[in-house]
Amino acid sequence: MSEIISFKVQGSDLYQVDFINTIDKLKIHCSCPAGQNFTVCKHRKNIMNGITDNITSDNKEQVDKVKQWVDLSIFLELFDYLKTLEKDKKRILKKVADTKKHIARYMDHG
Ligand SMILES: [Zn+2]
Repeated sequence: MSEIISFKVQGSDLYQVDFINTIDKLKIHCSCPAGQNFTVCKHRKNIMNGITDNITSDNKEQVDKVKQWVDLSIFLELFDYLKTLEKDKKRILKKVADTKKHIARYMDHG
């Protein structure tokens, strides 16, 4: 048994975002190019975060329901984890830049 809620979203084109809620899984599809490439696109991310700005279908009020599905799913955890990773990434990139500068300094003195 599954429940489906679909939204039309205006991006650089008109896309369709489908939320398919089954007992053990929440599947979210988007028809945009990024969505087809298994990338997290902003159309899905926006709706998952309750942002209705670009929705052109007349069911904006269903975003609340979809957001409840999201809240009950593993996505929140994964988004938190992603945020942590992005912070780590920034820190590591800074370390890389600092180390390169350090090496360059030694080269100049060498
Ligand atoms: Zn998309």
